[in-house]
Amino acid sequence: MEIKSFSVPDRILMGPGPSNVHPRVLAAMAKPTIGHLDPAFIDLMDQIKLQLRYTFQTKNEVTFPVSGPGSVGMETCLVNLIEPGNKVAVCVNGVFGGRMREIISRCGGIPVVIDIPWGSAVDPQKFEDAFKENPGIKLSAFVHAETSTGARSDIKTLTEISHKYNCLAVADTVTSLGGIPVKTDEWDIDAVYSGSQKCLSCPPGLSPVSFNQRALDAIKNRKTKVQSWFMDIDLITSYWGSGSKRSYHHTAPINALYGLNEALLLLAEEGLENSWARHKENSDILIDGLKKLGLSTFVKDEDRLPELITVLVPDGIDEAKVRNKLLNDFNIEIGAGLGALAGKIWRIGLMGYTSNRGNINLCLEALSNALK
Ligand SMILES: *Cc1c(COP(=O)(O)O)cnc(C)c1O
Repeated sequence: MEIKSFSVPDRILMGPGPSNVHPRVLAAMAKPTIGHLDPAFIDLMDQIKLQLRYTFQTKNEVTFPVSGPGSVGMETCLVNLIEPGNKVAVCVNGVFGGRMREIISRCGGIPVVIDIPWGSAVDPQKFEDAFKENPGIKLSAFVHAETSTGARSDIKTLTEISHKYNCLAVADTVTSLGGIPVKTDEWDIDAVYSGSQKCLSCPPGLSPVSFNQRALDAIKNRKTKVQSWFMDIDLITSYWGSGSKRSYHHTAPINALYGLNEALLLLAEEGLENSWARHKENSDILIDGLKKLGLSTFVKDEDRLPELITVLVPDGIDEAKVRNKLLNDFNIEIGAGLGALAGKIWRIGLMGYTSNRGNINLCLEALSNALK
């Protein structure tokens, strides 16, 4: 094999993430690296924290990007809020709910699983039943936008139910942040995490998180140490916390943070409401076009996400062949189904910078061509 510089193919990323990165974000990341304790960098960190509060719609002081992909944000929320023996209600209606359940067990928690058919939103009644049948649940965990199925759950109601039973709530907003409303304070979610590479139009590798006072108090009152050194909120906030000494915890991914700052700035320039509206409009246009091709969507209208549309593979069609043709002939990446949905659906992402008319037209044209 000849070793050489990597030449990147010119792809349109219409899968479940990453989405296309805005050129301004790429340009920001190409700037020279500076020290992670440089006063100029500390200013940038403050700016990122402020911007994230807007993005998450929160006043939470502890709002910052964890160094690591969305899964690290997931683990950070869970590992800080679970002590061995704690009962944790976890909604599983796709791959990511399943991942939460696995992390809960590894933290020594006792998962109380609310199993929901893949492709459906979490049923609040089933969720509440779990609390009635299992007294003493300390924490609940659910996914806002299930990227493996394209279903959206009502996390405002799930949080309300959790609080009614004196239980804290953790929400996964990896694929929802920037694409559909996420109102952390208004919905009173205790801990929330996201990812940089979905609707934020940034490369993967950073996971914005936010903890409210209730969550921080619960962490302060832990009887056992957080099992993870790297993800211990107390230790990380010695670096990211306001008024902290900003002492060394780990070396922040400097250039990735330049990129996130620019991505958040782009979102603020557009305005969250406008971004939500753009995702919805473009999704409607795509679905219209899919229908004209004789294709139907997997998730029913009320539960369907605008930024990730799952499409049923018609009978007699080899789904992988279609995906390969899209990639090889049109440079378009779409996603395959996962787990039980493998071979049955495609996942078309219209996230962040990817969500525009030109991409939709190209994708429809490519699908029409490939299906012939
Ligand atoms: C992508 C995704 C994750 C995991 O993010 P990574 O950056 O791949 O670790 C978690 N939850 C949901 C809903 C996702 O879509």
